[in-house]
Amino acid sequence: MGPYHPECPDRLHAISDRLISAGLDAWIRRYSAPAASRDQLARVHAREYIATIEAESPASGIHFLDPDTAMNEHSLTAARHAAGAAVLATDLVVSGECATAFCAVRPPGHHAERDRAMGFCLFNNVAVGAAHALVAHGLERVAIVDFDVHHGNGTENIFSTDPRVLMVSTFQHPLYPYSGLDNPAANMVNIPLSAGTGSAGFRDAVRDHWLPALARHRPEIVYISAGFDAHREDPLAGLKLVDDDFGWVTRELIAVAAKYARGRIVSTLEGGYGLSALGRSVAEHIRELAGPR
Ligand SMILES: [Zn+2]
Repeated sequence: MGPYHPECPDRLHAISDRLISAGLDAWIRRYSAPAASRDQLARVHAREYIATIEAESPASGIHFLDPDTAMNEHSLTAARHAAGAAVLATDLVVSGECATAFCAVRPPGHHAERDRAMGFCLFNNVAVGAAHALVAHGLERVAIVDFDVHHGNGTENIFSTDPRVLMVSTFQHPLYPYSGLDNPAANMVNIPLSAGTGSAGFRDAVRDHWLPALARHRPEIVYISAGFDAHREDPLAGLKLVDDDFGWVTRELIAVAAKYARGRIVSTLEGGYGLSALGRSVAEHIRELAGPR
């Protein structure tokens, strides 16, 4: 995204370092993400939009799509592979080769709408994964859980007319992108939280709103838009969660997946910009998904 941008390569290095230092690396099987095909992207994006992103990809330098969102010569390739990670993760988890999968990807995806890049996002990775479960694997009920501190406007934009997909989310409000409050569709459970809410308020929202909705939907697979920018150390927001909250919410979602979805969980990285907090929080998340029991 350019120098000094918070959505930076060091984010993935911070995660890798922490997984090693936490002793979790030995519990993880690594896969290389393939590029998503145009047809896979077109399940959730307009073909004209995909063509526009391809055309806007610069040969050199930084090209801004909006004031927050930029591309360099590698961004299109990275975005294709980020979306492809969600496709491969879906194949691995639905086939049973893996119980759960975490996609350590950049750029993130949940702000990307059907025909619009925004908020550091080019293609909506979690939506591409969920659409793959529906179209390629014939699943009938999918849940997308979004605990990024920002509202997943893109995922809502893509699935708000599709009752096969339930989206449950918490997000700080008011905060970018200032959406999620006006007339959400019946399959969207949006819980805005005010700045400073903290662990107790977040956990109450999950227990009171997410878990009942997930029980009613009975998803056959659970996707997580795993943003870690609700952490109290994050420089972009102020929701004041701590490392343990990410372990706690992961355990709650594992229980949901065990009950309805044969344990299938595909989690994909969204935000999280305080590097130490990001690494620690992802480690808590992955310890629950894949670590020793
Ligand atoms: Zn975010």
